[in-house]
Amino acid sequence: MDAINQDAPSSADLWDEFPVIANADDYIDSLKGRPMTIYCMGEKVEDVVGHPLIWPSINAMAETYRVASENPALATAQSSIAGKPINRFLHIAEGPQDLVGKQEMQRELGRRTGTCFQRCVGLDAINSLHSVTYDMDQKHKTDYHARFTAFLKQAQEHNVILGGAMTDPKGDRSKAPHEQKDADVFLHVTKRDDKGIYVSGAKMHQTGCINSHWIIFMPTMRMGEKDKDFSVVGAVPAHAEGMTYIYGRQSCDTRALDGGKIDAGNAEFSGQEATIIFDNVFVPYEHIFMDGEVEFAADLVERFTAYHRASYVCKTGLGDVLTGAAAAAADYNGVAKVSHIKDKLVEMTHLNETIYASSMASAHQATQLPSGVWQNDVMLANICKHNVTRFPYEIARLAQDIAGGLMVTMPSEKDLENEETGDLVRKFIQGREGVDPVDRMRILRLIENMTLGRNAVGYLTESMHGAGSPQAQRILIARLAEMEEKKARAKKLAGVEE
Ligand code: SF4
Ligand code: FE
Repeated sequence: MDAINQDAPSSADLWDEFPVIANADDYIDSLKGRPMTIYCMGEKVEDVVGHPLIWPSINAMAETYRVASENPALATAQSSIAGKPINRFLHIAEGPQDLVGKQEMQRELGRRTGTCFQRCVGLDAINSLHSVTYDMDQKHKTDYHARFTAFLKQAQEHNVILGGAMTDPKGDRSKAPHEQKDADVFLHVTKRDDKGIYVSGAKMHQTGCINSHWIIFMPTMRMGEKDKDFSVVGAVPAHAEGMTYIYGRQSCDTRALDGGKIDAGNAEFSGQEATIIFDNVFVPYEHIFMDGEVEFAADLVERFTAYHRASYVCKTGLGDVLTGAAAAAADYNGVAKVSHIKDKLVEMTHLNETIYASSMASAHQATQLPSGVWQNDVMLANICKHNVTRFPYEIARLAQDIAGGLMVTMPSEKDLENEETGDLVRKFIQGREGVDPVDRMRILRLIENMTLGRNAVGYLTESMHGAGSPQAQRILIARLAEMEEKKARAKKLAGVEE
């Protein structure tokens, strides 16, 4: 154990740095002036809120506060921990109805933003940690659950954003964490003192991390006996000393720098992923929720994914927007009544509602764990996420089919503004009489944005790989399929005697 670091902040010191956030404006203010090291496109970012490339992602996260102010029935919940109504993104599920309510809220936020609003990872992390910390205490006589609920109570009272960080770089996939040549490819404890631990490593693809107030880091997979230092869960302020963020590029992201509102497709909202590098970041003991209990790492990952795979109901909100955009594009072209167009819109709706059905069923079929928290049905949550790895691609294909090639060949907004070309663009982009050709451009740019531009990152590739790639769901589906029982039932009906 190292010498005591007298300057190491306690939990109370750290919470003193956070304001109580009442609404979206407070949230946006809370991101200003934080001492964070952030790089975006090779440059150090001094002002995240004023950064044109980052702002739409902050605005999407802010929508989680706006929806709570405008529609508390949808986006707040009565917390037994805080003893008062809180933002639903900080709520522990006290019954199946809380999971149903959470998923209704996620669909609505998908509709409002047309992108990833980033706040679900932290929500799913706290729900899985509620039960895992309890189970660890039962076995090891530790006090993680009390530490965790004390932290969560503060988070609920301050109404902050908790970011969840799970995915390590992983290095050589054939090797365990302790076997890696460079230990930093898995986040791990580097030293300890009387006040806490220090961790180094990195977390990749971290949704909304720069827009968060706290980062809760968790192990990414099953751990073995020699991986104790890698089996660690803790919470650190997003601006803690030793953390560096490198912003992830998104397809067509620099359209946000072009000025104007049309070519971006969705100028208001975007998602955010970044790499977080931890260089000996201090974590006080009060904020450590697992430290070497290797056998619980897999439980944590599995419970997290049970929640998070159902959270992908968010994509049905995006599916609503994309289906609406395709219907509007058809209307602007004068083909709204054509039978194959109507049928394609029905197909898009069917696929979208199938995702919704599997997610909602997993909430209604939730079960209670020993800590008291309720968890989505694992099979149905995996079916939801597996649907999400496929159906948005088909919905996007149908939207592009209806949109037509103009979506990727039409002139830019700047040509519209140019004196020589503006009227020509308007004349030849016109569709049905009575429709402003510029509105036609706007809708086509939105479809472009969601199917191959900036928000396709969230609608397509994140749908494929977020919360685990398709094969991760197939492993769980195979494990839960009860194939022997199914065979026995078939044999019984067929008269097979064994
Ligand atoms: Fe939430 Fe969906 Fe974004 Fe994940 S992809 S953080 S579930 S909005
Ligand atoms: Fe995600």
